[in-house]
Amino acid sequence: MKKVLILEDEMNIRSFVVINLKRAGYEVIEAGTGQEALDRLQQYPDIGVAILDIMLPDMDGFEVCRRIRATNKQMGIIMLTARTQEMDKVTGLMTGADDYVTKPFSPAELTARIDALFRRMGGENTASAEVLTQGPFVMNTRNHTLEKNGERIRLTQVEYAIVKLFMQNPGRALSREDILSAVWGREYEGELKIVDVNIRRLRIKIEDDTNNPSYITTVWGLGYKWGA
Ligand code: CA
Repeated sequence: MKKVLILEDEMNIRSFVVINLKRAGYEVIEAGTGQEALDRLQQYPDIGVAILDIMLPDMDGFEVCRRIRATNKQMGIIMLTARTQEMDKVTGLMTGADDYVTKPFSPAELTARIDALFRRMGGENTASAEVLTQGPFVMNTRNHTLEKNGERIRLTQVEYAIVKLFMQNPGRALSREDILSAVWGREYEGELKIVDVNIRRLRIKIEDDTNNPSYITTVWGLGYKWGA
């Protein structure tokens, strides 16, 4: 389900938005402060659109927008502006927002704006196609990031490519040759050992217990598999 974040400290407006977005078929994540919104976005990296109010208890919506944009260029961002704050629209767009909706707004208007952003982000497959989720792992293939239980794991490009290959082939035994040609390219002439070395390093980064790996398991005589 497409996820939308609503950041609004006024409970009545927020509940109104939540009810209407749920009715429109979205999964809604709520936040009442800027910090809470940033935490939720970490927790749910597959949020496709964020709706940000401007007047908030801890920081203004522009600051939240700026901080989101510092790390995430793809997410759709809609600012909620008051009718009396005409300048907010310009400021909002300057800080990286995609759109704005002026209070008071109708549910249909807000939903239409959100739908438009999801469409612009890439048609049918939108956010879901860019996020691979398995067990505690969430991979964002646009940003090239991997999280385990909401915590970012820093990977090299090669490590990232290996995990992506695994996550796209869960439960399938992959030979060292498979991994080598998928990650390094078919023309790569190096040794198969480089696969093992990278797997060893990856296990240190992602396994709960490196001595008893449960995510990258060994298939004796062949290679490796994602999952037991
Ligand atoms: Ca407010």
